[in-house]
Amino acid sequence: MTIISARQIITPQEILNDSCLIIEDGIICAIEKNNGSIKGKECIAFDDAVITPGLIDLHIHGSLYADTMDANAQALNTMSKFLAEHGVTGFLATTMTADPASIRSAINTVKECMDHLEGAALLGVHLEGPYLDEKYRGAQPRDRLRLPDPEEYRPWFDSGVVKLMTLAPELEGSDKLISYGIKNGVQFSVGHSSASYDQVIRAADLGLSQATHTFNGMPALHHREPGPVGAVLTDPRIYAQIIADGVHLHPAIIRLIIHAKGMEKTILITDAIEAAGLADGEYNLGGTAVHVQDGVARISSGSLAGSTLTLDQAVRNVMKFADLSLQDAVSMATSTPAVAMGWQTARGFIRVGGDADLAVIDARDQVIATFVRGKLVFRK
Ligand SMILES: [Zn+2]
Repeated sequence: MTIISARQIITPQEILNDSCLIIEDGIICAIEKNNGSIKGKECIAFDDAVITPGLIDLHIHGSLYADTMDANAQALNTMSKFLAEHGVTGFLATTMTADPASIRSAINTVKECMDHLEGAALLGVHLEGPYLDEKYRGAQPRDRLRLPDPEEYRPWFDSGVVKLMTLAPELEGSDKLISYGIKNGVQFSVGHSSASYDQVIRAADLGLSQATHTFNGMPALHHREPGPVGAVLTDPRIYAQIIADGVHLHPAIIRLIIHAKGMEKTILITDAIEAAGLADGEYNLGGTAVHVQDGVARISSGSLAGSTLTLDQAVRNVMKFADLSLQDAVSMATSTPAVAMGWQTARGFIRVGGDADLAVIDARDQVIATFVRGKLVFRK
């Protein structure tokens, strides 16, 4: 049994003062007041800090020179440990548009590694592509874009490891793809797409439920052609993923999205690439050269190529950009992604019966410790 206490516990629906968590076998088995009953028992006390649910990143390609497409256990472990240093306890390893063998290999590696990483838990794969629109491909390699092919995607979904897929729903064959994926527990997100408003709504009718880095990789909002942005902002079935690094979206647009969607439908992601955690310089994303300057990653065309953002920094950024409390900001990186993925009984909240996936955050909003299923995986 482990007991962890802090000044406050943000669940995040509530703030509990002067309370502690009692953890057994990686599960929160009780939440109690810090009173005499736990005195004398060994307690890990964070007196000046708050405990929040562990952060969840649904969209991360890499960090510290490691990338999901490296398709090796060491790369995934590097990412897992780096994420834990930033309060992340669960993530979806995110692929790039690539040849079939490379995607297959990335999926297989994730499957082999899922229960064997030292930091944040690897919760599955987010396939970003390869069924994307050419015009809005961003840093996705053009020569590997293709149309949905059941021969190709069925084995991916049958693997049980793919949890989320970003696609352009206007592409021929997308309807069948979405229907097949939904039956196999895959969630769909519109991204790198030039779909019309009606095409996105039709995809949502079939089960599409997220938008990938909203506003990026899609046409700008037009008042007569609302397109993907118009659909995402107005359809309550669709969660909006956002990159809150201050570069991908102007702070006013972040406020607009949160205003339209609410915090319970806005998901903070990083879209981080291998340069995350490293200095400015030359890097690689899916075989394309990336130049990072002042922390901003771009390919030679000038197109943004993912980010170097960490999820704890995204939480601090939205607090500033949208004048939010830590409780509100953290919900968009914990409970909201968990509910979006259907994971809420196990994670995303601090509740009895849930996994003891926890971030400990000090008075300056910095992560000082991280627990994954009750195990301390990072301590500053
Ligand atoms: Zn993207």
